[in-house]
Amino acid sequence: MKVELYDTTLRDGAQSEGVSFSVMDKIRIAKKLDEIGVHYIEGGWPGANPKDMEFFKKIKRAGLKNAELVAFGSTRHARTTPAKDPVLKGLLSAETKIITIFGKTWDLHVRDVFRIPLDENLKMIADSVAFLKSKGRTVYYDAEHFFDGYKANPEYAKRTLLAARDAGAGVLILCDTNGGTITSEISGIIEEVRAFVDIPLGIHVHNDADMAVANSIAAVQAGVTQVQGTINGIGERCGNANLVSIIANLSLKLNSECLSSASLRGLTEASRYIAEICNMRQLDVQPFVGNSAFAHKAGVHINAILKNPKTYEHVDPTAVGNRRRMLISDQTGRSGILKKAQELELELDKDAPKTKRLLKLIQQLEHEGYHFEAAEASLELLMKRTLKKFNDFFRLMDFRVITSKEGAKMTSEAIIKLKVGKEFQHTAALGDGPINALDNALRKALKDFYPGLAGMHLSDFKVRVLEEKAGTAARVRVLIESQDSDDSWWTIGVSENIIEASWKALTDSIEYKLLKDARKRSSERAAS
Ligand SMILES: [Zn+2]
Repeated sequence: MKVELYDTTLRDGAQSEGVSFSVMDKIRIAKKLDEIGVHYIEGGWPGANPKDMEFFKKIKRAGLKNAELVAFGSTRHARTTPAKDPVLKGLLSAETKIITIFGKTWDLHVRDVFRIPLDENLKMIADSVAFLKSKGRTVYYDAEHFFDGYKANPEYAKRTLLAARDAGAGVLILCDTNGGTITSEISGIIEEVRAFVDIPLGIHVHNDADMAVANSIAAVQAGVTQVQGTINGIGERCGNANLVSIIANLSLKLNSECLSSASLRGLTEASRYIAEICNMRQLDVQPFVGNSAFAHKAGVHINAILKNPKTYEHVDPTAVGNRRRMLISDQTGRSGILKKAQELELELDKDAPKTKRLLKLIQQLEHEGYHFEAAEASLELLMKRTLKKFNDFFRLMDFRVITSKEGAKMTSEAIIKLKVGKEFQHTAALGDGPINALDNALRKALKDFYPGLAGMHLSDFKVRVLEEKAGTAARVRVLIESQDSDDSWWTIGVSENIIEASWKALTDSIEYKLLKDARKRSSERAAS
């Protein structure tokens, strides 16, 4: 089964609440999509948006290797001719080989929104497609609201598709624009369409009923050969069909050759990379590529997974570039710790005293309020420190944080003294609050030694007050999430003092980044 992937992250995805792409963002996303082997990249609506026009100009210089770039727009306006229509002119000016235009399928829209006769809409579809064809372009036709239109007036919906086909459209894309169609209806209607359409069909669905991935897969099974979607399912309202899950399902469940297996292994990284450009956090529970997608916690599950991963995993995580995680909690026995050590390539013997010491230490810290299943980076550092497999990249001498209020303005300043090797650093920095000031001061002190730190930032910060235990003051637990271009990680600190708890989580997050970078450098050296 050959399926073509058509990405619309840059056009439909850009309609997502909270997403705003710069031209540079769009170029970075397009390059990533090209790298993983998506067949078509819909770059934007060149007639309607000057930023999109600039993107089409610049992307030409960037030179895509695999993907074909597509310009998107609508059929001509009602009271004009194609040659005079500004939308069609804009589309041609993007100079892409392929142009996708959408037109109205649903008589309700033609009557109530366009307020034109039904036949006029058919003319708009036909002569817009024909005009773009006459200019030497391949034209894909998006039948907007196709499924709703077909349910309301099948005869008219059919005529709109045939108008586009007869005018020379190369692919007819059936859209579930309002995203409310149920999977069985998608399959049934596509079967009916296949009885009167003899050219390739595509599918473009939205996720308003949380059915978008299932609907896209069902459409492929019903004979559609082009699937449209966005990375991580971003898009207006509840989003578009998530192309990441679609790709994984097509490849791993239906044996479709939509991507090479090497590209498939880049899927997790691509999903995270694009989420970061969208300034969104990839959901931990995102199927296939999320951080929790292959995370096991229950003792019995871990036990079974160790014997055979198939017991609790539907696919091999490495097939999509993700990884299995064994979550360590105070319920985890020695086998969990051993497994974690093995994952981290630490030699640890089941009966060695150091194993017992480590287990006891973890249990003790969990008792104090640490929560390592939520902070694996801190756990890794703790294990490596305890087993003496790790030397800290810097050593704190002392720090001071001053927060003051002058008039209406609060300011925070941090002063820190630390040592890197034999070198002594003494720096100060301001920040929006004490933690930010500490973070800034720490980076300032370390930036000359470790320039890679410029590529990371803190992406989440959680504070929780823990229950008071008899005779002690309440403690706080701070969890910090940090991110760089290809990864994200959580670290933890617990203390009776919120600044100290934050400091612990903060320094772990930086130590982890430095450890990660050092590991990357040494594996690159080994490979070359
Ligand atoms: Zn859409």
